[in-house]
Amino acid sequence: MGSRTALVEDLMERFPHVPREAVFKEDLLRGGVAFDKSALSDTANEAAGDVKPKSYFIFSFDHGTLPELGEAALRRPPEEIILTGGPYDLRRTVVSVRVNPASPYRVAADEEGLLGLYLDGRRIADVGVPPMPEYYRHTLSNGKSVMEVAPTIQWGYLIYLTVFRVCQYFGAKEECQYCDINHNWRQHKAAGRPYTGVKDVEEVLEALEIIDRYDTQKASTAYTLTGGAITSKVAGRDEADFYGHYAKAIEERFPGRWIGKVVAQALPKADVQRFKDYGVQIYHPNFEVWDRRLFELYCPGKERYVGRDEWHRRILDSAEVFGARNVIPNFVAGVEMAEPFGFTTVDEAIASTTEGLRFFMSHGITPRFTTWCPEPTTPLGKANPQGAPLEYHIRLLEAYRQTMDDFGLSSPPGYGPPGPGRAVFSVSSFMDSLPADGPDAGREADATARTAS
Ligand code: SF4
Repeated sequence: MGSRTALVEDLMERFPHVPREAVFKEDLLRGGVAFDKSALSDTANEAAGDVKPKSYFIFSFDHGTLPELGEAALRRPPEEIILTGGPYDLRRTVVSVRVNPASPYRVAADEEGLLGLYLDGRRIADVGVPPMPEYYRHTLSNGKSVMEVAPTIQWGYLIYLTVFRVCQYFGAKEECQYCDINHNWRQHKAAGRPYTGVKDVEEVLEALEIIDRYDTQKASTAYTLTGGAITSKVAGRDEADFYGHYAKAIEERFPGRWIGKVVAQALPKADVQRFKDYGVQIYHPNFEVWDRRLFELYCPGKERYVGRDEWHRRILDSAEVFGARNVIPNFVAGVEMAEPFGFTTVDEAIASTTEGLRFFMSHGITPRFTTWCPEPTTPLGKANPQGAPLEYHIRLLEAYRQTMDDFGLSSPPGYGPPGPGRAVFSVSSFMDSLPADGPDAGREADATARTAS
């Protein structure tokens, strides 16, 4: 296969049912994008520009360490980009920004200053960037920025509250082999960037107050409470209590203002019940990778402390607390094919992942996935700088949709609208690849495309 363009076009032809927007989105997510200087923010002060900057909301999601990113480490790129138009006539597609200075994809401004996405040197789409939200321009009384305490992603839909910026699974024998949460914390500290390890509940509330005040369009719809695994205690609290007490405080202060979600380990049922009692509506006990051998190898801490079988049992149990629709475990799409332990053919990888999807969906539970970003400081990223084959990601979208159809399920709650041209979920294209629901979905999508950039 020659150029990346040829690879992409070949897949579009072979998989015509997968929206072409999703093909580009998956490729950008797995391999990253370079930014020309003309496309970077013009200020080092991240609250001062016109464009909403990349917040590093949990992992680095970059293909280089900060010192390797050059100018993009000093003048932040946008949090997300929106692709439209171009020779492929793309519908509005929101893509999370993963920086890779060596990518064949490049965002640059043309002579008139209009941003475009270039692949192998050819302009393939217009690029829209998120405007700086008014709430990012305000600081908390302790001087911290809203972006640091309560960044928003998915075009403003989701407030991402990583309240514990490190993980108690630590070192090669415990950390998940694709995860750079601990490294990301270290690199931000080393760069002198503000990066709070444990967020104080009062500062979270203050940041939400600012968002609530200035988000007059009510674009922010959900919040996610998350962070590293807690195997002992943080601030005297176990995992359920630690993450749960933020939910409790938020729901007391802003009852029902946002859909509350928690990403945490698969916890025993009594702990899951505590989340529910605190006002959480959606629970994400991520199963990471389906295959038994790969789970044991890639998630050594989780295997040792909980174990795969128990992890899955707890996911099913949590459906009795939250209802199956509101249990949405994530997996990291692509690590199935990471060398040296992963599957060597796309067929095997898809068969394994589909088995996992069928297991959960047969119980009414709809998993979702993020597209693996092979961050270079992780063991799997180091060994697989190119990530998984694009064909794997495209076929996964097909398999996901087909399995959902087989079990009569629809897109999970709390992700905004599904469908090409409508989805806002930015770290995989599973929502872009599902059918737009409702009789007016097509027209609505067109209207969104016209007004959103
Ligand atoms: S449990 Fe694994 S994926 Fe989650 S933060 Fe810790 S190391 Fe990362």
